[in-house]
Amino acid sequence: MSRTFLEQAMARLAHAGPELEPGHVWLVGAGPGDPGLLTLDALAALAQADALVHDALVSEKAVAVAEQAEKFFVGKRGGRLSIPQGEINALLVRLAKEGRKVVRLKGGHPLVFARGGEEALALAAEKIPFRVLPGVTSAFGGLASAGIPATMRGVNGAVILATGFAAQSDDRPDWAALARTGQPIVIYMGLTHMADTVTALMEGGLAADTPAAFVENATLPGERVVVATLGTLVGAAERERIVSPALIVVGHIVPLREKMRGEG
Ligand code: SAH
Repeated sequence: MSRTFLEQAMARLAHAGPELEPGHVWLVGAGPGDPGLLTLDALAALAQADALVHDALVSEKAVAVAEQAEKFFVGKRGGRLSIPQGEINALLVRLAKEGRKVVRLKGGHPLVFARGGEEALALAAEKIPFRVLPGVTSAFGGLASAGIPATMRGVNGAVILATGFAAQSDDRPDWAALARTGQPIVIYMGLTHMADTVTALMEGGLAADTPAAFVENATLPGERVVVATLGTLVGAAERERIVSPALIVVGHIVPLREKMRGEG
């Protein structure tokens, strides 16, 4: 039934979708995993690609849409590159110069902690036409799925997205400065350096009893939400065996989950 609803709605929408031309590259966000969070333009991209360059965090269902495309897996996960970024950039440039219709598919949003910016710069330097198709970033998809509001009137007037895995010191967040804002922080790639991050946030002034949570496999069938506090996060991760992909949420938006679920 739902399929019929969608097909009818699509027909009424009559959105043709942008056309992917040979020699062009699109940097496409696939959302956090649930196929329902693919955008229509992402779907149009997948349907037209003849070369699909993707990594580990995109769902197999999304990849399967591009059945006609040659697939190039350039898996990277948790900040560890299995293929150096320079090689991925070079692959995109080569495929475009060969006149392929190239889709570079990334989990979430392609320009949020995904190195899509570097790929865009590499394409620009070679004068290769490209465009960015945004996706739902995992912080917003994951918070919604977990029942945690990203902002709530009276609770927070900002929300911070941070990486826990900054490779270079000049893009490592100043955790103490972030802590001083008192605003909730959603940490991507946070598991590897979690203990250091937690320490830095507490040194910056966040109390050990600040509410915190993990959202693991957000929007996917195995989604898990584990609630803790800043002080108990590291222990909770070990006890619950939290694995990637997971988000760490720190701040007073976390307890709203219980209220929204009618438990509080
Ligand atoms: N461009 C992506 C982020 C890539 S960085 C985006 O916009 O979401 C990879 C990190 O994203 C993971 O370490 C994890 O923290 C987070 N992430 C991506 N997908 C996730 C998911 N389904 N559930 C929880 N976290 C996810």
